[in-house]
Amino acid sequence: MAERVDVVIAGARCAGSATATALARKGRHVLALDPARIPSPTVSTHLLFAGGVAELSRLGALDRVEKIGAPRLPHAFIGGPGLAARGEYTPVDDLDYGLCVRRAPLDQALVETARESGAEVREGHRVSGLLWDGGRVAGVRARDHDGKDYEVRASLVIGADGRRSTVARLVGAARPRLTHPNGRACYYAYYEDPRQEWRSTAAMWLTGRELGNAFPCDGGLTMVLLMPPVDRVADFRGNLEAEFDRTVSLVPGLAERLDGCVRVSKIVSSAEHPSYFRSSTGPGWALAGDAGHFKDPVTAQGIRDALRFGRLLGEAAATALDDPASLDRAVRAWERGRNVECVHTYHWTNLLGRGDGLAHVQFELLRALVNRPAGVREVLEVYSRLRDPRETLALPGLAGATLKALRLHPDARAEILTGTARAGRALAVSHLETRRLLA
Ligand SMILES: Cc1cc2nc3c(=O)[nH]c(=O)nc-3n(C[C@H](O)[C@H](O)[C@H](O)COP(=O)(O)OP(=O)(O)OC[C@H]3O[C@@H](n4cnc5c(N)ncnc54)[C@H](O)[C@@H]3O)c2cc1C
Repeated sequence: MAERVDVVIAGARCAGSATATALARKGRHVLALDPARIPSPTVSTHLLFAGGVAELSRLGALDRVEKIGAPRLPHAFIGGPGLAARGEYTPVDDLDYGLCVRRAPLDQALVETARESGAEVREGHRVSGLLWDGGRVAGVRARDHDGKDYEVRASLVIGADGRRSTVARLVGAARPRLTHPNGRACYYAYYEDPRQEWRSTAAMWLTGRELGNAFPCDGGLTMVLLMPPVDRVADFRGNLEAEFDRTVSLVPGLAERLDGCVRVSKIVSSAEHPSYFRSSTGPGWALAGDAGHFKDPVTAQGIRDALRFGRLLGEAAATALDDPASLDRAVRAWERGRNVECVHTYHWTNLLGRGDGLAHVQFELLRALVNRPAGVREVLEVYSRLRDPRETLALPGLAGATLKALRLHPDARAEILTGTARAGRALAVSHLETRRLLA
């Protein structure tokens, strides 16, 4: 006899735990399966802007997450050649700080929140197949840590199983509706950080085409994230530590920030992480978090969105589970809401994630934005999702920034013009893609 629950979820990290929490709070019988043992690390940095912290709070997980001991980050710093701008957040739900909590303890806090809400989470169990009733998904086939197979029937199956989602593959949704390659790679490591004067500041430096970040996190550490252009991935291959240190030195502001700090972890890398939207709902199934939609890490929105749209999916499905037609309508409306909320941020992120000659233009654009009164605050409002990113990409601003970049970097003229032309084309295409996605 197969087990029977209301909802079964593949994956129990950000999206899975958030969805499970929302469903269980509404009194639904929910089971989340994850082959991982949590706490365990995963390849992901973990900065949350104030908008992400607010999502932890809306989920009821913030107190637990704050107990992990990461410092609050009420200050932001944006630096580069001739630029050193500081600013604070406009509060989101009265929360006016960012947080950077390593994924192992963060995910553990999320799983504990789900369990406390009444959800069952089985670690060491993976979803291996789907059960179908005609054209409708009706449950999962699962495998436990001893290799024993079993079945669970459910009104709704949710894939919250990340970018390589098994559920997406099994429902035939693995091929994205929209996708963009990443223009920058990620290399990150943790440093012991005695620099108390920086411990409440999330800082970012742009220098030439290099992008470096230092985010204080739990354990008295600071996470250093380098995002060189993808055409530099070969420099890191077989030479990871030396190239990491050399790249830090290419960003003088970051190198100064790390003065007195010592790297105490191995370096984690991600060279290929394309962005996408997948079709994310169908009869008896839905895809939450990265399983359905992924944005380049350059704007650090993924955890926020996995928490938010996981919670919203749980809330939307909870009241519709007893009638298949209402359930399908509810999850379809959820998917459309997610796409409407995310599509402009997606295109803005893709533009910021370009590692080509546009980087010089981006820097001049950023300089013009943050040198205005309250400029950093307004930029942070975009990252906290309080302000439409299209406001920062208005054409007159882009044109002015391009002219300035050309004047300041005569040697990189061809690179800048090519990068800008490509970005202009991408912006034009993004309008069509948005219309198609939301049609
Ligand atoms: C290099 C990098 C840096 C990033 N930096 C940031 C950042 O600074 N800030 C930010 O907000 N976001 C960041 N992100 C994005 C963030 O990592 C994701 O958006 C977030 O992890 C999505 O959560 P999720 O729950 O959807 O997926 P995941 O966190 O990937 O969790 C998926 C879970 O599904 C489980 N699973 C897989 N297969 C199965 C199966 N068959 N059955 C059951 N379970 C399964 C996995 O074991 C895993 O635990 C970054 C991403 C990358 C790649």
